[in-house]
Amino acid sequence: MSVSSETPAATADGVTSTLTPDDIRAALDGLLERRTDQTRLTSMGAGSDDLDDGRAYLAATVDGGWHVPTWPSNHGGRDASVAENQLIGSVLREYVVPDLYPFAIGLGMVGPALLAHGTEEQQDRWLRPIASGAEIWCQMFSEPEAGSDLANVALSAAEDGDVWRLDGQKTWTSRAMWSKWAICLARTDPDQPKHKGLTMFVIAMDAPGVDVRPLRQMNNDAHFSEVFVDGAVVPDAWRVGDVGEGWRVAMTILSHERAGAGSRGGGDGAKRGSRIPTWIADLAALGALDDPIGTDAARRDEAMSIYAADMASRWTAQRAADEARSGGSPGPAGSGAKLRTVSSYKRRAYLANRSAGAAGMLEDGHGYIETVTAPSMSIRGGTDEIQRNILGERVLGLPGEPRLDRDVPWRESRRGLL
Ligand SMILES: Cc1cc2nc3c(=O)[nH]c(=O)nc-3n(C[C@H](O)[C@H](O)[C@H](O)COP(=O)(O)OP(=O)(O)OC[C@H]3O[C@@H](n4cnc5c(N)ncnc54)[C@H](O)[C@@H]3O)c2cc1C
Repeated sequence: MSVSSETPAATADGVTSTLTPDDIRAALDGLLERRTDQTRLTSMGAGSDDLDDGRAYLAATVDGGWHVPTWPSNHGGRDASVAENQLIGSVLREYVVPDLYPFAIGLGMVGPALLAHGTEEQQDRWLRPIASGAEIWCQMFSEPEAGSDLANVALSAAEDGDVWRLDGQKTWTSRAMWSKWAICLARTDPDQPKHKGLTMFVIAMDAPGVDVRPLRQMNNDAHFSEVFVDGAVVPDAWRVGDVGEGWRVAMTILSHERAGAGSRGGGDGAKRGSRIPTWIADLAALGALDDPIGTDAARRDEAMSIYAADMASRWTAQRAADEARSGGSPGPAGSGAKLRTVSSYKRRAYLANRSAGAAGMLEDGHGYIETVTAPSMSIRGGTDEIQRNILGERVLGLPGEPRLDRDVPWRESRRGLL
């Protein structure tokens, strides 16, 4: 490692580190390209079908544990402290990090869940191929009758010796057609109240009885699917957590999903030392920031207001993600982070698209893909309304929603009777 003039990692979590920004740059310079003003980033799940760039980036960074530094070094991380992780994240922003959307469930959600709830055997089998990009994962939670009310999941898992047989339907399963594995929430005991009779499994997407049918979205992507499961067999060794503990595992996964929205991977494209993110530079190139002062400076004001909100959103997302990585759950901070990230994504997309004038209506127009993707941001990972409910109840202490079916056996609830 190089000798550095820069300060070692801050010790926010009380761990002193000798790793410096120059050490990290020395390691990454041989592996990745530096960003320039010309670097443009694809948007999460919008218009990108490229698996190769992300796979090459993860394969290049896995030996050093640079992408998931807090994971154990034998599983593709480098046992980093939260402070080191922050430092590595800030240096990584100087490099071209491709759209990691196809790999995001494994890296951001399944990995942390396996570290929290998985057996040693499961961690040995699945973590490294996630970190290296070799195996893609999807999240089979939502069903036609279980979205916001996720505890209503009906896909059933019946024990049969040392295997489970799964039957039912999932929907909106992002990345299913690329995935080798899914983390799947299933009902194992319909006689328990809805939150209690659930168990989490890993299912092989190429197993007999698993049928993936892609759905097309209005941004023309077909990245999410309906998944029909008809008697698919899952060994008991692939159960994550105890029988009946599926809700707890699901909450770990969802809190990481919310906290992770908008964090590492992608970014604003600003090169090191540049004070202007590329999206603002693009607006300037369109002439959108030239409105004369005093008459109609509305777009410039809007851009600056988005920039300020975006920075607050990144820092909140970072805080939530750090809370998660330091061993706890991101909790309601993840909901706040998601609301802010979604709001600034939408405002940025709409301002860019409006500024392109009539050309913005064309498929390759400035901000078009982001504009037609933006509404889905308020739905995926839990809707804006659900995030506000969480904040209302858990941060503001407002009265909870009426939950009439909480203590009723699921079999006797409205869905269970259908
Ligand atoms: C692009 C995209 C990708 C997705 N990827 C995945 C994935 O990979 N895996 C997966 O499992 N799921 C995925 N989903 C599904 C997503 O989690 C659900 O769509 C979401 O939780 C909402 O559920 P729903 O669509 O059933 O809507 P519903 O729950 O039926 O909600 C309909 C409307 O009612 C509102 N509402 C519902 N309950 C309340 C309440 N209690 N208080 C206030 N308002 C309420 C909602 O906010 C919404 O506006 C994805 C969705 C999208 C759009």
